[in-house]
Amino acid sequence: MRIIPISLPTPFYIGPVNVYLIAEDPITLIDTGPKTKEANDALHEGLRKARIRISDIRRIVLTHAHEDHCGLARSVRDQAKDAEVLVHAWETGHRIGRLEYEEHRTLLVRAGVPPEEIETMRKMYDGVRQYADSFERDEYGELRDEEELEFETGTLRIVHTPGHTPGSCSFVRESDRTVIAGDCVLKRITPNPILSPDPIDPTKRFASLAEYLVSLARLRTFAPTLVHGGHGEPVHDFEELFNRYFRAIRDRQAEVIRLLPKSGASAWEIARQMFPVTDDVHRFLSVSEAVAHLDLAHSERKIEVEFGDGKEVYRPKNGVRGEKGNG
Ligand SMILES: [Zn+2]
Ligand SMILES: [Zn+2]
Repeated sequence: MRIIPISLPTPFYIGPVNVYLIAEDPITLIDTGPKTKEANDALHEGLRKARIRISDIRRIVLTHAHEDHCGLARSVRDQAKDAEVLVHAWETGHRIGRLEYEEHRTLLVRAGVPPEEIETMRKMYDGVRQYADSFERDEYGELRDEEELEFETGTLRIVHTPGHTPGSCSFVRESDRTVIAGDCVLKRITPNPILSPDPIDPTKRFASLAEYLVSLARLRTFAPTLVHGGHGEPVHDFEELFNRYFRAIRDRQAEVIRLLPKSGASAWEIARQMFPVTDDVHRFLSVSEAVAHLDLAHSERKIEVEFGDGKEVYRPKNGVRGEKGNG
């Protein structure tokens, strides 16, 4: 079973996205790139080199529903004349009537983000939305954990790896322990656990970082020899990356705990201290990161949180300070 990576340009800060073509029956595309002419052209060129016609594609599988990964899904499906589209049920980014502005707004207010900042973030995300088409509920099928995608000469096991988003999935070829991991595993950057409403109870936050750590540990049980990520080069040494991510997460947690004043602070205030100079695009990501680390520290009983005046205020626990870190 040949896995052919195709790199597509994106209009986003992160740079090109990797999509993966499985060039055997049923011919399958894992992720599609954003809805831009440039990405569509590059996809056609990649398929041409692999001697596959777009009309040969029978199945479109999404690692997650961020615009850079799912944007062209509808267009590819239509060009392929009715390929099946598969995505995990906890993913919402591709849906018509996806978990929307109100749920996110509630979470941002609770994190202490001022109203004018929320308005700026909303405008920015409205801009990002143009890079993806939405799907009606009956237009896609579900990826289910532990099930297998079958091909002529092998299978890919579906592994639900929440964290970056609630419905992120990875795909494992057990015969040679190759993994396609979307944005769960990236060689050069620690993926962002994005602030998300819980897909089952949208009034709650999804425990993205705690879930992410479990997902990484779960991928580790497959002892991957090669991991294809959503951006950048493949990872050959998963063990090194696993340990590096864990260290980075612990160091960041220590920093977050150190930054907490005795009088308490909101996630937004911590985010502004961690990343004093951030442009618009990164303010949402920085508050996501602060919330993720504060939530994890709280669930590990290292800090306290109190809800008052419409927002959450975090405080250091007596005697517990950031353990480590240099700066
Ligand atoms: Zn993503
Ligand atoms: Zn991505």
